[in-house]
Amino acid sequence: MIETDVLIVGSGPAGSSAAALLSTYGVDNVLVTKYRWLADTPRAHITNQRTMEVLRDLGLEQEAMLYATPNHLMGNNVFCTSLAGEELGRMRSWGSDPFTQARHRIASPTTMVDLPQNFLEPILFKAACGRGTKARLSTEYLSLMQDADGVTATVKDRVRGETYDIRAKYLLGADGGNSKVAADIGLPMVGRMGVGGSINILFKADLTRYVAHRPSVLYWVLQPGSNVGGIGMGVVRMVRTWDEWLLIWGYDINQPAPEMTEAICKDVAWNLIGDRSIPLEITSWSTWTVNHMHATSYQQGRVFCMGDAVHRHPPSNGLGSNTSIQDAYNLAWKLMMVIKGHAGQALLDTYSVERAPIGKQIVDRANKSIGEFAPIFGALGLLESTDPDVMKANMEARKQDTPESQERRRKLREAIAFKAYEFDAHGVEMNQFYVSDAVAVTEGDERRLDADAELVSQPSSCPGARLPHAWLEKDRQARSTLDVVGHGQFTLLTGIGGAGWRAAAVDLAAAGFPIRCVSIGPSQDYEDPFGDWARVREIDDDGVVLVRPDQFVAWRQRVRAADCASALRDVVARITGTKER
Ligand SMILES: Cc1cc2nc3c(=O)[nH]c(=O)nc-3n(C[C@H](O)[C@H](O)[C@H](O)COP(=O)(O)OP(=O)(O)OC[C@H]3O[C@@H](n4cnc5c(N)ncnc54)[C@H](O)[C@@H]3O)c2cc1C
Repeated sequence: MIETDVLIVGSGPAGSSAAALLSTYGVDNVLVTKYRWLADTPRAHITNQRTMEVLRDLGLEQEAMLYATPNHLMGNNVFCTSLAGEELGRMRSWGSDPFTQARHRIASPTTMVDLPQNFLEPILFKAACGRGTKARLSTEYLSLMQDADGVTATVKDRVRGETYDIRAKYLLGADGGNSKVAADIGLPMVGRMGVGGSINILFKADLTRYVAHRPSVLYWVLQPGSNVGGIGMGVVRMVRTWDEWLLIWGYDINQPAPEMTEAICKDVAWNLIGDRSIPLEITSWSTWTVNHMHATSYQQGRVFCMGDAVHRHPPSNGLGSNTSIQDAYNLAWKLMMVIKGHAGQALLDTYSVERAPIGKQIVDRANKSIGEFAPIFGALGLLESTDPDVMKANMEARKQDTPESQERRRKLREAIAFKAYEFDAHGVEMNQFYVSDAVAVTEGDERRLDADAELVSQPSSCPGARLPHAWLEKDRQARSTLDVVGHGQFTLLTGIGGAGWRAAAVDLAAAGFPIRCVSIGPSQDYEDPFGDWARVREIDDDGVVLVRPDQFVAWRQRVRAADCASALRDVVARITGTKER
């Protein structure tokens, strides 16, 4: 029997990042995955700043940037009748609007990029294996048994056809939207699978002439009459600039999935491009369903689920792989702390408490975004008739010199701008907030969200929030506050007058607890040249912010304590669920 501390089932964004993080933290782990290799199609691609921060903490940001399409080529979200046809409107998206661009730059040292899943997974998987993960490809999880000390999983080697057991202290089900692990442990699920049907068509074609002047990740094509029982909207998604593409095209879920052939795929692609003279090569096609389902708990005993196993939703807002990686970032340090004896088992219960509300939020958000296309259809007069000729005439009607036509134009502009809730929802991506026993709130700690919580990132050092980014400097090199925390350790951030906090951290570290202290200010460990940190830290120079290994604030104290050592010991014991050290 193979023995390990953590058995991970699945090598998607959730499983590969969990493996990379655990190996980086020095936790023994085995990963099994059903197929002989990783994702073979692009699927997830939008990689938001929060995920880039996780990659940065893992030392993988630069490698990701090598393979990613950069932010400046992502942002012209186009609505048109075909790529060669008439443009109906455009929306600056993914942080490319000058206002949101500023917020992106203020929020994070990273940039949002487009990194297809078949490029991202190998980066994570390679890091995991290079740092210690024992990966077994072509190995299918079959079943599990839990007892007081661990989990025994039965797996099947799909090459030899043999089954064998793996014994682990903990098991992570990162086995995707049809998770067998989640089903086997009976996780409570809310919602519905299969609320819509979609067809993916992957193809190669040089479309530079139609897109390079309006670079974007997504081109939305409205063609009344050309869909199977719907409005007739398809999306042409950039995979690689500008010669590799993915078409997404809806089908009526109440009917059987359409029988696709290469000829049909070519026809759909040429229709959306609007130019049949463009040579194209179909590389693959598949059908998939839109889901609206989330788990209300992510844990059963020693088994935890993450990623699509616990939140299943459409690609709108580009949240799936991002949230999956962020699940892993939340759980990995907690497992490390418990396995290495720095925390009690109760710390692990906070994973589900913290992440399940986020999962629900993103599932609801992504599904709501689908419905928010309706005002665009309405403004174009596409909801007034099902007759394609009338629909086309209504679209034309917006060009007339009449008050009605002017009203249609106004409504269309507003409806497109409203899609910021899907294509520029920086708050959804960055404002995640945790309330749990792994966060110590004291009197006066209250997070205020003054602006729209879905659109606007609002940094705070309130316990439960992600540490605000600020540019610091050391040895003439710029460093983000997020760079000086993380790396599998707790960090105390303080300033001039914080010597008592430093001494308290040194004591805890000497006792083996993973903690460091960083002082920020003139002639301290790091300078704060612009005063950025002083503006966002919400404490005084001699106060303290305790940051968890996942860069979330665990606790803060506005000013120096009378007895810093005992204040820190108390709070660490509270968070880790251990007795006072
Ligand atoms: C068309 C499309 C576009 C998308 N666009 C985006 C986007 O822009 N941004 C975004 O963030 N997300 C997007 N998503 C969603 C994204 O692909 C998923 O959310 C993401 O892959 C979930 O990661 P995961 O690791 O949880 O699961 P998966 O990637 O599904 O991985 C599951 C893993 O488990 C393995 N596995 C399954 N069963 C077993 C078993 N019994 N034994 C062993 N191994 C098993 C599989 O082989 C696989 O390795 C998109 C999805 C689609 C379909």
